[in-house]
Amino acid sequence: MEQVPNPKGYFGQFGGKFVPETLVEPLRELEEAFLNYVPKADFQKELTQILTTYVGRPTPLTFAKRLTDHLDGAKIYLKREDLLHTGAHKINNAVGQILLAKKMGKKRIIAETGAGQHGVATATAAALMGLQCVVYMGRVDMERQALNVRRMRLLGADVVAVESGSKTLKDAINEAMRDWVTNVKTTFYLLGSALGPHPYPQMVRDFHKIIGEEAREQILEVENRLPDELVACVGGGSNAIGLFHAFLGDEKVAMTGVEAGGHGIKPGQHAARFSGGKLGILHGTYTYLLQNQDGQIENTHSISAGLDYPAIGPEHSYLESINRARYTYVVDEEAKLGFKLISALEGIIPALETAHAIAYVIKQAPKLSKDKILLVNLSGRGDKDLEGSLS
Ligand SMILES: *Cc1c(COP(=O)(O)O)cnc(C)c1O
Repeated sequence: MEQVPNPKGYFGQFGGKFVPETLVEPLRELEEAFLNYVPKADFQKELTQILTTYVGRPTPLTFAKRLTDHLDGAKIYLKREDLLHTGAHKINNAVGQILLAKKMGKKRIIAETGAGQHGVATATAAALMGLQCVVYMGRVDMERQALNVRRMRLLGADVVAVESGSKTLKDAINEAMRDWVTNVKTTFYLLGSALGPHPYPQMVRDFHKIIGEEAREQILEVENRLPDELVACVGGGSNAIGLFHAFLGDEKVAMTGVEAGGHGIKPGQHAARFSGGKLGILHGTYTYLLQNQDGQIENTHSISAGLDYPAIGPEHSYLESINRARYTYVVDEEAKLGFKLISALEGIIPALETAHAIAYVIKQAPKLSKDKILLVNLSGRGDKDLEGSLS
């Protein structure tokens, strides 16, 4: 497969860098630093050191025996990103970008957060490196993820409530971008998914691609062959692209991204960009988004804050356009069933985001014969979701 993105940050026709003039120079500086520092041996050595001694890599690949028996179809393997420090894949990207911020001499880290997981990962990495940290979070998300707000504050971060728009993730990104424009000399914007203007989609992917690299080696070791299908939930798309990337050249490995169907595919009721979305620009990137006929961003709904975002990372739009990956959705009620089933059968309480991937597996595995292999990214653990309406 062709290497993407191209030097201008395009994945086919998707991606790019659609930003106000004030962000052109900061993004250029970031891109130059990313291309200069990250490939170097000393950077990779320091990153590996943190990933292995602090973050908890490599994560195991778990055969889900009881879930497999229960569904009576394909064998199901789980890539256990829930076992990482702070409880989700997001820490891979946070420590990678923090290390880059340090190399660039930045003293202040800003981030946006939806579910609070990226905020917690960023606050954790900032504490580890002794850097100042400010996290923007929609007021609605602060209420539904109160535990993560407490964690961030304990970790020394300043959590700023965002009161504009729908008071969720997209509004928090707007605020973070505003802060960056104002404080660009001292500040590093640590973006939390494979989204936004170039070089973020590429950089975030590269810090997460270790998920798929490990999983590929691990499945070859236990099964002596590659899986038939990869499955991951897709908010902005970072855990999914992290799993998919190492397998892109393996033509026989199918890839499925699972979006949030919310209450069903009606305007304002879901976050499934490939089912009802159209091409447009949001937060600096050209991709599929949920918008109304006037191009205004549609409200979104999902039971999981981490999937509740109107745009999808541009590389996913590209993979869909060339038929390399397939995207589907599950609704809130299906995700809740997935959440309960895997908890009871495997002793693993997943994040509600992850439960969307599990819900798809519950539908897909019985359709496949027993010699097929599904490999699912278990993107995070569910402790943060226990206070809602699940039990
Ligand atoms: C944030 C989050 C997601 C969604 O974000 P992606 O960038 O699409 O991976 C999925 N799972 C968990 C556990 C999360 O915290």
